Amino acid sequence: SSTNPINERLVHNHLKNQGPNVSMFYRADGGVVAVKGEGAIIYEPDGSSYLDCANNVAGCGHSHPLIVKAAVDEIQNIMTNGRFLHPLRDAYVMRLLATLPPELDTLYLVNSGSEANDLALRMARQYSTSANPDHVICIDCAYHGHVQSVVDVSPYKWRQCTDGNAESYHKEHVHVVSAPDTYRGPYKTGAEYADEVKLVLEDTGGVGAFIHESILGCGGQIMMPDGYLPAVYDAVRSSGGCVIADEVQTGFGRPGTSFWQFQHYGVTPDIVTMGKPMGNGYPIGAVACRREVAERFAASGIEYFNTYGGNSVACAFGNAVLDAIEQDGLQENARVVGEYLMKRMRSLKELPSGVEFVKRRRTDYTGEDIIPHEKLCRYVVDFLKYERIIVSRDGPDGNVIKIKPPLVFTNGNVDSLVNGMKQALIEAEKTGYF
Ligand code: PMP
Repeated sequence: SSTNPINERLVHNHLKNQGPNVSMFYRADGGVVAVKGEGAIIYEPDGSSYLDCANNVAGCGHSHPLIVKAAVDEIQNIMTNGRFLHPLRDAYVMRLLATLPPELDTLYLVNSGSEANDLALRMARQYSTSANPDHVICIDCAYHGHVQSVVDVSPYKWRQCTDGNAESYHKEHVHVVSAPDTYRGPYKTGAEYADEVKLVLEDTGGVGAFIHESILGCGGQIMMPDGYLPAVYDAVRSSGGCVIADEVQTGFGRPGTSFWQFQHYGVTPDIVTMGKPMGNGYPIGAVACRREVAERFAASGIEYFNTYGGNSVACAFGNAVLDAIEQDGLQENARVVGEYLMKRMRSLKELPSGVEFVKRRRTDYTGEDIIPHEKLCRYVVDFLKYERIIVSRDGPDGNVIKIKPPLVFTNGNVDSLVNGMKQALIEAEKTGYF
């Protein structure tokens, strides 16, 4: 808590010695000092614990013994760059490709989600036969990473701009379409949102790429509506562009019914980017694509070299993550516990994979009568912190609680979370937040 001297010192030093805008959980409330983790639990230095419901980096659970052992073994063997051949890399590339549809048969290993998306955009530009190969369509509220090329296609980031210059981040080559939110957005159907993309394609004569998250994470955990992606994929491809699915948040078994979230919509992207849970906390990312995309990228004659991409320690982590997902049945656990979570959340009112707080909800859609309730959402997040439960808050109106626990989450963990939320809502009502 904020009265804890260790937290106070670390927050103070963080603010003084690191960039003033470097992100921190619960900055106003002493942060969380995470010195040890186990499964879905995080420990502070005094041994007190938090239930971690906001961590898809440690997808297999914190400090998974199998992953720790594989990594330590390899660290003791060698740590070097990715130019050397290594059997772990060979095995990993084949195993990872086997999780994808057969069309996606070529892999590039990188170190983060941002790097993966940056590379994907480079590849798309090279591959596209459209009138504007360097143009990109992205979705409003999208987040694709922190390097310049992907900040350009991350309206979520520009929205945070408070100095009045938000529009200066909107580059000419970037076309932003509405988030396909059929609950609070301007349209009711996936087809109507797809028409917006088609309009951009008509106006511009075509773009190099359409990039999308498979669930809009920072946009408020919004699933793609029925028919949206199939229609968009067809339109983008027939104008000579390609489609990039950003699976950095959603991949590696989290969807439960599939390994990758795009599979849920019945589409196959030209390029898939991945990261976060891929190394269970170790920095590793990848771009998977069709052979043809990689061949056109390589046809420029420019070699691709990435110092750490595909190093053997990263591949040891990557292989062990796939082992853990398999051996612990984590994809199936995500499905079963995810269903239980949804069932329990429905008793509080729900939206897919996030909880959106609004002031009024009408069953007949108009949009106007649904008002985001950011203040209540903030109250619930703060309340849960005192109950030692970590969740995150997001969405364009800051009114969505994101729930993305490690996949080792249990029904008992769900009960703790939902009971905590229920209690928070009871208290909020008493305090007059409704
Ligand atoms: N894409 C998505 C959808 C993300 O959520 C993130 C990170 N939150 C990134 C890309 C960037 O990944 P990284 O921070 O590893 O560069």
